[in-house]
Amino acid sequence: MSTPGTFIAGVTDADIEEGRRAYQQDREHVFHSWSAQAGLDPMTVLRTEGSYVWDGEGRRLLDFSSQMVNTNIGHQHPAVVRAIQDQAAKICTIAPSHVNAARSEAARLIAELTPGDLNHVFFTNGGADANEHAIRMARVHTGRHKVLSAYRSYHGGTDLAVNVTGDTRRFGNDHAGVGVARFLPAYPYRSYFDSTSEEEETTRALRHLEDVILLEGPESIAALILESVPGTPGIYVPPKGYMQGVRNLADKYGIVWIADEVMVGFGRTGEWFAVDHWDQRPDLMTFAKGVNSGYVPLGGVAISDEIYQTFAERPYPGGLTYSGHPLACAAAVATIQAMKDEGMVENARRLGTEVFGPGLAEIAEKHPSVGDVRGLGCFWAIELVKDRQTKEPLAPYGGSSAAMGELIGALKAGGMLPFANYNRIHVAPPLNMSTEEAREGLRIIDEALSVADAHA
Ligand code: PLP
Repeated sequence: MSTPGTFIAGVTDADIEEGRRAYQQDREHVFHSWSAQAGLDPMTVLRTEGSYVWDGEGRRLLDFSSQMVNTNIGHQHPAVVRAIQDQAAKICTIAPSHVNAARSEAARLIAELTPGDLNHVFFTNGGADANEHAIRMARVHTGRHKVLSAYRSYHGGTDLAVNVTGDTRRFGNDHAGVGVARFLPAYPYRSYFDSTSEEEETTRALRHLEDVILLEGPESIAALILESVPGTPGIYVPPKGYMQGVRNLADKYGIVWIADEVMVGFGRTGEWFAVDHWDQRPDLMTFAKGVNSGYVPLGGVAISDEIYQTFAERPYPGGLTYSGHPLACAAAVATIQAMKDEGMVENARRLGTEVFGPGLAEIAEKHPSVGDVRGLGCFWAIELVKDRQTKEPLAPYGGSSAAMGELIGALKAGGMLPFANYNRIHVAPPLNMSTEEAREGLRIIDEALSVADAHA
């Protein structure tokens, strides 16, 4: 043990003591998300910097999760910390009805970066409420009420957002799902359509989507909400032609396409927005997380000129006290500037093609427990199976297993903070991670996978 004031990997004894106190208070008073509260053993974080976090014992871990896939620019970026401090010294908060320089500049930058004519921005506090408001806008715009969403999707934890969610997190909340109809997603590795090629998957998944539209009644459907690359449900990249097909169906039936870019927006996949990979223009696009790396809560809806016109003469029936909060918007302006100045989107693309793509393909070849690896930029999934032939997952959909628990333990012991979900490990590090850090992460994964192989 070191003496007070000295550093254990950048952390003092006083920090560790504070962390222990915090842990106790947490267990007594903090109610955690998506969890049974008894028996929880959350990790204490004492310090964060760049691509690293320090746990309650002062151990440095490589953050391959970007927390909740939001710290796209890494931890404690000095320019963003400074921008928040400068804004706090000037104006901490202002009602959404007033004009504020940070909010105006953030909106201008977002309108400039988003594709097509998404020229207007409604700010929210995060991703779930962005989706709630996007759906409300679509309903008023079309005069219709139904919403289509994909199974194996996640759109947030508030009432409507969790009801359009298509993964198991909606269980227990389904009662409020009035007007929500779901369709099966294009998911080549576990095709619901028995497809044997990418082309087949695209054709069959789109035919199924059109069937659902027709069976639900196109004249009743306001919106189709879709994660551009579904994130927590599995990082399955849409097959070629699928997104164009979605655009075509939305146009054919007058349905508003809401692209949920909460997790994949702002560079995560190696383009500013994931829809840019397929050159697509949604009618509404929701964002959060990466817009300011989560340094201060912020989300929003980018709105097309056409939908904006609906609200030119009639009031928009919605609002939030903290819409376009100055601290959050100042952080967004500084984040976007830092991403541009430091070429982070290009770096994410380069890491994807030069390091993660080939590195994970090698890992897949070597380890019998790896069923599939897939992704783009700094956004990859390693799907773990007991058997490559049957594709039996290493943990059930929506659940956990001892084998996955052991794997997560091995990754942490190796020096990594992983993002794990069901039978998958996600690779979602900061976009400005160095090549050496990325390779070190792959080395830790490679070593830890022997634990999973023992169950395969
Ligand atoms: N949409 C997607 C695709 C997400 O991944 C998330 C969160 O992970 C959300 C919406 C909800 O965002 P928030 O937790 O900020 O409400």
